[in-house]
Amino acid sequence: MISVEQALEKVLSYVEVLGREEKPILECLGQVLDEDVYSPLNVPPLDNAAMDGYALQAESSRGATESSPAILDVIGEVSAGALPEQVVRPGTAVRIMTGAPLPRGADSVVKFEDTDEALRSRHPISKIGILKEIAKGLNVRRAGEDISRGQLVLEKGTPLRPQEIGVLASIGKTTVAVIRRPVVAILATGDELVEIDQPLPQGKIYNSNSFSLAAQVIRYGGIPKILGIAPDREKEIEAKIRQALDSDLLLTSGGVSMGQYDLVKDVLAKQGEISFWTVRMKPGKPLAFGLIYGDGRRVPHLGLPGNPVSSMITFELFARPAILKMMGKKNLSKPMIEAVSESRMENTDGRRVYARVMVRREGDRYFARVTAPQGSGILTSMTRANGLAIVPEDIAAIAEGETVQVLMLDWSEE
Ligand code: AMP
Ligand code: MG
Repeated sequence: MISVEQALEKVLSYVEVLGREEKPILECLGQVLDEDVYSPLNVPPLDNAAMDGYALQAESSRGATESSPAILDVIGEVSAGALPEQVVRPGTAVRIMTGAPLPRGADSVVKFEDTDEALRSRHPISKIGILKEIAKGLNVRRAGEDISRGQLVLEKGTPLRPQEIGVLASIGKTTVAVIRRPVVAILATGDELVEIDQPLPQGKIYNSNSFSLAAQVIRYGGIPKILGIAPDREKEIEAKIRQALDSDLLLTSGGVSMGQYDLVKDVLAKQGEISFWTVRMKPGKPLAFGLIYGDGRRVPHLGLPGNPVSSMITFELFARPAILKMMGKKNLSKPMIEAVSESRMENTDGRRVYARVMVRREGDRYFARVTAPQGSGILTSMTRANGLAIVPEDIAAIAEGETVQVLMLDWSEE
């Protein structure tokens, strides 16, 4: 048996960062930038108003108070998107809207609330009272204060979140080079499996793993390629596995334990190579890893256990980091927190236990409660969990009230 860390290290040593693609920015959410992006322009392009109000020279407000306002001549109005023609001189002001370019000569904007505009009934307004003295530069957004022309805005290697997509848009970049998404082939194995749109004969079960796994692939940025079900026959498993040769990773579920019909490993022994079989963890002990060969390609293969919970958890621990590495991500681990255990969690045979827990926050502490029942065939236990509490290999049990490390599956701060 090998440890979770050793297994992960092996998996990661077999996967490489993928090549690049150039795509419209909105299709790149979650992908990693593969170019340094420099700005061709200033953002904002011109000095402009940060508030609705009056553009003026701060000097013109000198000595103004509510009881003795500075009265200025209003020489025009400018809205966002327009270009002001007027030149502001001492004693004059231009009515201005947020985002509108500052007229020449003006150095500040006084907001409506600091004028007597509300008291004036004649429109258009020809005179305005400024009710207080303002500092030069007030409520003015400077040209280039966000991004200046020629600036390195986003560095190669940056994962693109909504804010990065927005920044790319703000400099008029329509497409961008990113590390492409991995295509992940998913194959379910087992004579007992039936596709979900078919009637369910006695003795059979629906193939749920392909769906939970495909959803996990999508969630972490990959593109699932569902290969369907292979019955427990060498020839058919072989044929299906061949269909994965144009993918970046093959995930199979089932058929990797010691059962009589566990054939994936036999097929792999012929069509590729196998790296290891058992990991010191629970659930999910049987796990295969290797490469499949064919058409001049070598595709990494992760053989996940068939039990629905085990397959999802081993995906989180091994397939997810592999996918993220292929996508060029640097941070491959999920967030871990410390929680107070509200359940007794046992480790009976020296394997690291990943217990499904629901974590909640109370004050400044987290509490983790085991979701019952915990059988690795009970998929609904995953629907009631938001984290995996860890009982280390060398600890027999975590008692109620003790601290436990929890790997968060869903994390609002993620
Ligand atoms: P195996 O690893 O093939 O021995 O399968 C272990 C358990 O997981 C068995 O009870 C299988 O019926 C179940 N199982 C295997 N594959 C799937 C699947 N694709 N969907 C749902 N359950 C599965
Ligand atoms: Mg099976």
